[in-house]
Amino acid sequence: MIKFHPTEELLVKYTQGELDASLCLVIGTHIDMCPVCANTVKDIEENVAAEMLNKSSRFATAEMDNMLEQIMSSSAPQTVFREPTLKEVSLEGKQFKVPPTLGRLGSRLGPWSKVPGSVWRAPVDIEGEQNINLIYMAAGAAVPEHTHRGSEATLVLNGSFADEYDRYDDGDFIYLGDSHRHSPQTAQEDCLTLAWLDAPLQFTSGVARLLNPFSSLFFR
Ligand SMILES: [Zn+2]
Repeated sequence: MIKFHPTEELLVKYTQGELDASLCLVIGTHIDMCPVCANTVKDIEENVAAEMLNKSSRFATAEMDNMLEQIMSSSAPQTVFREPTLKEVSLEGKQFKVPPTLGRLGSRLGPWSKVPGSVWRAPVDIEGEQNINLIYMAAGAAVPEHTHRGSEATLVLNGSFADEYDRYDDGDFIYLGDSHRHSPQTAQEDCLTLAWLDAPLQFTSGVARLLNPFSSLFFR
């Protein structure tokens, strides 16, 4: 049962294409996993469509029909470029299923690298930016406490982790603004997440603070 969802405001922006492409990927992947948000998005789309129809009611019906006919008949054969779809990722001898939205971008998944604290990350290249990563935390792993200069969105793809605020399981979407500090950790179970950051992390505690100059290498 998914407990944490994107806010309706985010879903509206998502449907209207107002979010950056990387954040869209995280939200789209959540929607793949979440029938509740899939329904909300359908409702939003229907409302928007109804609104547009309302606005265009000044067109005479005949004119409208004409327009529709033109649109329908102008469907020239389209070349759809399809990248090979990724169905699962393998890491540390385990296989994880990948939801379709993320799978379509599978060929942009960079190599895995190990980060301090039994954590691995693999960047997903979106429009030349790498502010989105698959992050794998082994059982009993911890990301040092950190805060952000920007926002962070995390989607649990498989497994669970906890921070000071709550515990998160498959499909949970967590959006944190720049005022939040947290230290994600796993217990007996490992966890694969998709994480979006709009600025590098700032580690806030102990020895991990020494990592700050390099934080953009770990999580960008
Ligand atoms: Zn949801």
